[in-house]
Amino acid sequence: MDKARFFEWIERHRRVLYAVSIPFILGLMGLVYLLVYYTGGVRFVYSHTMYIPILLSGFIFLIKGGLAAGILAGVLLGPIMPLNTLTGEMQETINWVYRLVFFTGIGLFSGAAGDSARAFIHHFRWLSQHDPVTSLPNRTALFASLKNRLGSKQPSGEPGLSLFLLEIENALELSSSFGFGITDYALPVVARRMKSGKIALEVYQTGSRQLGLVVPCNHTNHQSPQGTAAAIMEECQEAIQYGRIPVHLDVRLGSVPLPREETDPRVLLQQAETALAEAEQQEASHRDYDAVMIQGISESVELLGELKRAVLEGQIDMHYQPKVDLRSGRVYGVEALMRWNHPEKGSIPPGRFIPRAEQSTLIQLITDFALERSLAQLAAWHKTGMDLTMAVNISTRNLLQPGFTAMVLSTLEHLGISGEYLELEVTEGALMMDMERTLDELTRLAEANLVISIDDFGTGYSSLQYLHQMPVSLLKIDQSFIRRLPKDRSAGHILDAAVSLAHNLGIKTIAEGVEDRRVFDYLQTTGCDMAQGFIIAPAMDAPGFVRWYQSCQGVWKPGDPAKQPQT
Ligand code: C2E
Ligand code: CA
Ligand code: CA
Repeated sequence: MDKARFFEWIERHRRVLYAVSIPFILGLMGLVYLLVYYTGGVRFVYSHTMYIPILLSGFIFLIKGGLAAGILAGVLLGPIMPLNTLTGEMQETINWVYRLVFFTGIGLFSGAAGDSARAFIHHFRWLSQHDPVTSLPNRTALFASLKNRLGSKQPSGEPGLSLFLLEIENALELSSSFGFGITDYALPVVARRMKSGKIALEVYQTGSRQLGLVVPCNHTNHQSPQGTAAAIMEECQEAIQYGRIPVHLDVRLGSVPLPREETDPRVLLQQAETALAEAEQQEASHRDYDAVMIQGISESVELLGELKRAVLEGQIDMHYQPKVDLRSGRVYGVEALMRWNHPEKGSIPPGRFIPRAEQSTLIQLITDFALERSLAQLAAWHKTGMDLTMAVNISTRNLLQPGFTAMVLSTLEHLGISGEYLELEVTEGALMMDMERTLDELTRLAEANLVISIDDFGTGYSSLQYLHQMPVSLLKIDQSFIRRLPKDRSAGHILDAAVSLAHNLGIKTIAEGVEDRRVFDYLQTTGCDMAQGFIIAPAMDAPGFVRWYQSCQGVWKPGDPAKQPQT
């Protein structure tokens, strides 16, 4: 047993210890009295044995116990104890008074030592269960509470409990503006709101920007995890007051219901973390744990781990999907789409690894690769007289990455390609992330004549206001609208509105995901400029694309046989 556990054990059994110690110490004193008496009185050395019960008493019963034991011992070996039991000679008063004072001093001293040891134990125990900065109970305390709850069966009819993890999403941003103290300040404020709003029964600090809440929550009645999450979000919506500055916290939640049967609390915390990670990945405010999550998350984490090697070992390749002019049918360009040929898992679609890579710095590697590979391909095609443009998908992180624009421009220069042949596809969401900085980067790219296009237009913020501020020259209208044409009239209206708005701003439009003839024909009746989709051709590897291009001689007609999409 280590020291901490020993002291804890003492603390826990204090009542029993008291009950046993009193007769024990008194008995010990009696024994010392008898020992001194029968060995001839206080003139011999045995009287010193009395220190043992005095020290014990001080240590167990603290200052009062030490004092009492010191006085009692002083009396026992004092006026009632002869100096010499054989001759019956009694002690001089000064002799026993001096000893009594000395014993009392020892009692006082051991009591004070016991007192500070206990204060230390208390502090030590507090520290092991709390965060020293915020004073909130910590992860160890959460585990102890969960262990308790999971062991005891809850009476039926009582709502179940859930463990919610609440993470401050903008902690980094706040720390860089206000210093690290801001999260230490914010967490207890949120914790108090959770308690005073009667949302959480218990609140713990589980990370530097994370709280763990034990919340009454039932999957079957109105206190659903979603309802509880909404209540928590609402409490957090009100800004916290940091000095005189109101500070807004962006929070995200992950939750897991507490099972009735005994479960390892660490497993539960991990499940809640998984739900939180899932929420983050999907940019949702809350997710409740579901067993399939762990599979998805571990798969994408696994793939992410292999991605760098895959790039270096040539498992990643670019495929090219043609884009045609709706009026003339001219194949004017291609979109480069990434393909991963995994040696064991086979072909992995980009949707399974790119969204995860976009949340990490690996997206830089991915984009660098996509740009270099597809521009080198474009340079090769230009040499053979294929007059094409190349569109490459990029993410927000790329635009915010220092040196990105310079890298793009130097790659173009190195390959001798002029700017207008490169199109960068950016999603609406990406543009909105940090408008000021992305605007700067996009402006520099547009000044070099690059084509900036908005990908998946209509699915994101659909905010048309920002369009005129951005150096955008192409709108890619998302497949979800195109697929509903021509029957769905609202999709038709959206297309018309997007096309006329774009044209008024001098921006061209392309319809993506054109899969059949009726849609293609319909598009020709609208003002839309270009089309891309399986009816024309799916993405093909470079030699496959060249064969396709040559077979139609660079001009595609609706009657031409489309290749089947490769899966
Ligand atoms: P996206 O940019 O919207 O690309 C279009 C996706 O739609 C491609 O899927 C393409 O194969 C598919 N598609 C094209 N025509 C049709 C059609 O007629 N019908 C249907 N149903 N689908 C069609 P893919 O290749 O699986 O790519 C998925 C997403 O992955 C892309 O969506 C893009 O966001 C991302 N992505 C692909 N390659 C890259 C890359 O190199 N870098 C980055 N950052 N993202 C990439
Ligand atoms: Ca795209
Ligand atoms: Ca798209």
